[in-house]
Amino acid sequence: MTSDLLSPTPETDREPLLSVTGLNKTYDTDRGSFVALEDISFSVHPGEFLCIVGPSGAGKTTLLRCLSGLHQPTSGTALFDGQSITEPPRGLSMVFQDYNRSLMPWLNVERNVQFPLIHKGLSKTEIRERSDEALASVGLEKFARSGIWQLSGGMQQRVAIARALAYRPSLLLMDEPFASVDAQTRSELEDLVRNLHLESGLTSLFVTHDIDEAVYLGDRVVVLSKPPTSVQEIVEVPLPRNRDQLHTKELPEFSATRSRVLQSIQNL
Ligand code: ADP
Repeated sequence: MTSDLLSPTPETDREPLLSVTGLNKTYDTDRGSFVALEDISFSVHPGEFLCIVGPSGAGKTTLLRCLSGLHQPTSGTALFDGQSITEPPRGLSMVFQDYNRSLMPWLNVERNVQFPLIHKGLSKTEIRERSDEALASVGLEKFARSGIWQLSGGMQQRVAIARALAYRPSLLLMDEPFASVDAQTRSELEDLVRNLHLESGLTSLFVTHDIDEAVYLGDRVVVLSKPPTSVQEIVEVPLPRNRDQLHTKELPEFSATRSRVLQSIQNL
């Protein structure tokens, strides 16, 4: 692991990589219109690990769909690298909660990682180099030729992370990625993504309903309210950049930040 002094820090003085301003999303339903997001504003700085936390039904999926260009907001703006998001941005990779549905079971591990790179038009050598490097970074180099079905749930999610990394995105977007794995695996995967972030400086946006996870991983935590969803509060996390499950969670700063986020959610 890199030391706190060596790990890159978020570049808060540079233009945000992702900038959301006054974003609204209204769905038309049989029972009239439903306001899912109301006046959402926040930004993600280069090199930052930003977590978004909110209760179920708070509109997290809706927000992610707007940020990944799958939905158009009803009003407001979402800019990625200064450009309005009207389609899935090229510099963005996503890791979904449901690895079962995001991986292709008829392809082996390395073919899954390589699939988006083939469509990017890279040379065979570069595709191999990138997938070898990405699989090594998630500890799966020995499983490159394995079938997806031979791997545990946690390992499958590592494949999904490797696939996202091999694309070399400027923003990694993760949608409740560890909600379907057991508690022990979840802790290991949390440490994996936090360490990958520290080593590469990759800007990361992580959505979760788990307060402990948001505080443990984030440099800041955006707390969403209940629908019509707005930003309740943005909480700075005053923890060292290098973290570990045992010691970090024993720090008074961890408990204090956790309580602050919990209070913010309970006051909704
Ligand atoms: P979360 O991911 O936080 O659980 P969602 O974004 O899935 O929240 O949903 C937020 C609200 O928007 C929910 O009340 C949901 O029923 C509603 N919603 C989501 N998608 C649609 C849709 N396509 N049409 C109508 N309502 C929707």
